Amino acid sequence: MSAKPCIALIAHDQKKNDMADFARHHQVALSRFRIVATGTTGGRVQDACPGLEVTRLKSGPLGGDQQIGAMIATGEVDMLVFFIDPLSALPHDVDVKALTRLATVYDIPMALNRATAEKLIDFQKD
Ligand code: PGA
Repeated sequence: MSAKPCIALIAHDQKKNDMADFARHHQVALSRFRIVATGTTGGRVQDACPGLEVTRLKSGPLGGDQQIGAMIATGEVDMLVFFIDPLSALPHDVDVKALTRLATVYDIPMALNRATAEKLIDFQKD
């Protein structure tokens, strides 16, 4: 078992460049976390930051959001950074809603856009 806190990273398709950029800028802060991510997002983060170890779950539409939701329910996730795309219809919209609901139920710090994520990650520095 890792003693590091766990951060979950997810970005919808139109936000994946943003997530890769966010990860690149905050590699040092992210290295203090155990990182889990939905499949495609995790691949992008891994490509952007080869030094980071990322556990990739299923892709969001195939259950990855629900996997992260289950991890939140079992107390395994300490922070959620989820770059949502409010301008596109998503086939797994119900999963997105379920995940943000669980993060709220379990009172997990949750950033749904980059501006908030920047603030949250700043708190992790020193
Ligand atoms: P993905 O999933 O990282 O596998 O694209 C994210 C999502 O759409 O929920």
